[in-house]
Amino acid sequence: MPLFDSHCHLDAPEFDADRTGLLAECRLRGITGFMVPAIGADNWQRVMALSAREPDICFALGVHPCFVAQQPTDVMARLTTLVQQRPSGLVAIGECGLDGRSHLPQAGQQQLFEAQVRLAMTLDLPLIVHSVRANDTVLKLLRRHRPGRGGVIHAFSGSLHQAERFWELGFRLGIGGTITYERANKTREAVAAMPLEALLLETDSPDMPICGHQGMRNTPLSLLRVLDELAALKRLPVSHVAAVLYESTQDIFHLGK
Ligand SMILES: [Zn+2]
Repeated sequence: MPLFDSHCHLDAPEFDADRTGLLAECRLRGITGFMVPAIGADNWQRVMALSAREPDICFALGVHPCFVAQQPTDVMARLTTLVQQRPSGLVAIGECGLDGRSHLPQAGQQQLFEAQVRLAMTLDLPLIVHSVRANDTVLKLLRRHRPGRGGVIHAFSGSLHQAERFWELGFRLGIGGTITYERANKTREAVAAMPLEALLLETDSPDMPICGHQGMRNTPLSLLRVLDELAALKRLPVSHVAAVLYESTQDIFHLGK
C-alpha cells in the first residue's frame, strides 16, 4: 500500500539533522513518494538539489504568498527562466496563492499569484495553491484564468460549497492534519461529502502538526494518521482510500508517464 505525501517541505532546516534517517523510516512505513513545494527564490536550488539526491522526491517551484515581500524584484523573470529549462523532477508551479491573515503584508500577493497562474498555463503544469482566509478570492481568480492542468488546493480548509467549486475548476483538495481536529467541523464535513477522487494526502511538514502533537515538528510519518482519519470520515476501508489517492497523485503530477 504505497502512500504519497503530496505537500511536505523536506528541504526545511528543521530536517537537516535527521533527513536521511527520516526518509528511510517513511519508506519503511510505505510512504514512498514526496512532493516538495518551494516557497521563494532562496530555496529553489535547495529543493532541486534534494530532488536530485532522492529519486522519490519531486518538486514545485514558485513563490509562497507569505514570502512575497522578501523576493527580489525580478523574481518572476528568474522563476520563468528556471522552469522553462524543465529541470528533472519539476511537476508543478508553487506553492503560490493568497494568505489573508491580517499580520501578513497583502501588497503584491495577488499580482504574484496571477503571474504564477499564467506561467503554469504557459508551461502546461498544475498549480500548488496556498489559500488561507482567501478561498473566495482564489476561486474568483481561478475562474477568470481557468488553468487547464488544474492543481491542488493545499491544506484545504473551507466549506463544502467552496470544495465543490474548486473541484469543478479541476483542483483537487490536499487533506492534511486539519481533519484530525474535532473543532474543524466545517472542513471535516466538506471532506466527508467530496468524492474520494477529489482528495490528496499531505502533511505540510514541518508545519501543521496533527492533533495531540501541537507545538512539535510535523513529519511525513503523520500521513498514516491523516489517512486513518480520512478513511473513518469516509467510512471506507483504509486500503481503498490509500489506493485511490495514490493513483490520483500520480495522475495530477503526471508521474510514471
Ligand atoms: Zn506548504
